[in-house]
Amino acid sequence: MNLCDIKTVKQIMSAYHLNFRKEFGQNFLTDRSVVEDISSECCATDAGTILEIGPGIGTLTYELALRHRKVIALEIDRGLIPVLEYTLGEFDNVTVINEDVMKTDLDALLALAFAEGPVSVCANLPYYITSPILMKLLESRLPFDYITVMIQKEVADRLTSPAGGKDYGAITAVLAYYGEAEKLFDVPADRFMPAPKVDSAVIRIRLYKDKPCKPKDEELLFRTIKAAFAQRRKTLANTLTAGFPELSREQINTLIADCGHEPTVRGERLDIAQFTELSNKIFELIA
Ligand code: SAM
Repeated sequence: MNLCDIKTVKQIMSAYHLNFRKEFGQNFLTDRSVVEDISSECCATDAGTILEIGPGIGTLTYELALRHRKVIALEIDRGLIPVLEYTLGEFDNVTVINEDVMKTDLDALLALAFAEGPVSVCANLPYYITSPILMKLLESRLPFDYITVMIQKEVADRLTSPAGGKDYGAITAVLAYYGEAEKLFDVPADRFMPAPKVDSAVIRIRLYKDKPCKPKDEELLFRTIKAAFAQRRKTLANTLTAGFPELSREQINTLIADCGHEPTVRGERLDIAQFTELSNKIFELIA
């Protein structure tokens, strides 16, 4: 069965009386080489478990199951479960669970998998909920090796932008705290069914086992980043003054200078190490 074949996809959907559900971001992959590339590049070893979010009709899942020891796939749409039983019926290393990833207790779900070996995430994510899913995975603090996801190209450019780049934002800096993100390749919109309005890209995040940045207070680091990006095109001194009313303008000017920045520096110039240094100095003033 070729799940990348458009005729096959149509036949399956019609046989199970299903429509593509926009509210679940259902755009199924129809390019075999893209599916193979994601599956082979999503982690360093094929001896581990892959958590897939949103298997759809099982196109990527099929390839993951061929290559990797074990696959656990979470699918929100109940209507797709019988389809997945059919398309993945030949595998005994795949577990499909009918659940919303945002409501899933990932710790409990993956406890055994982590005890058995490395676990990575691989998914063609539903676009409507990309950032919340990524933040849930990162904030779970589960020791995933890699998180490899297909997302909107624009979001991929943002997440992989260097500090100071035109796409660099608060979420880029936060992501850089947890791991190292790289763009693997772009995927044009016509490789999906139905075709979305925008192009996509695959990014791979290698999560740090030991994070290089050591903030004194993690929440304060995130608050500092959020404040710095709250008003783009304003200087860091201005955005921090608005974001930290408990600090005087003089204190803010001094700590920016102590970190070695020009008084006119903008927040979007700072990388995660510089944000960590800044937030550690703020910690000394307000803790
Ligand atoms: N993996 C398939 C592929 O590449 O062809 C389908 C990808 S499609 C972009 C996104 C999939 O995620 C759909 O099957 C959709 O039903 C599912 N989905 C959407 N929201 C979800 C959620 N909150 N939890 C789990 N699955 C979800």
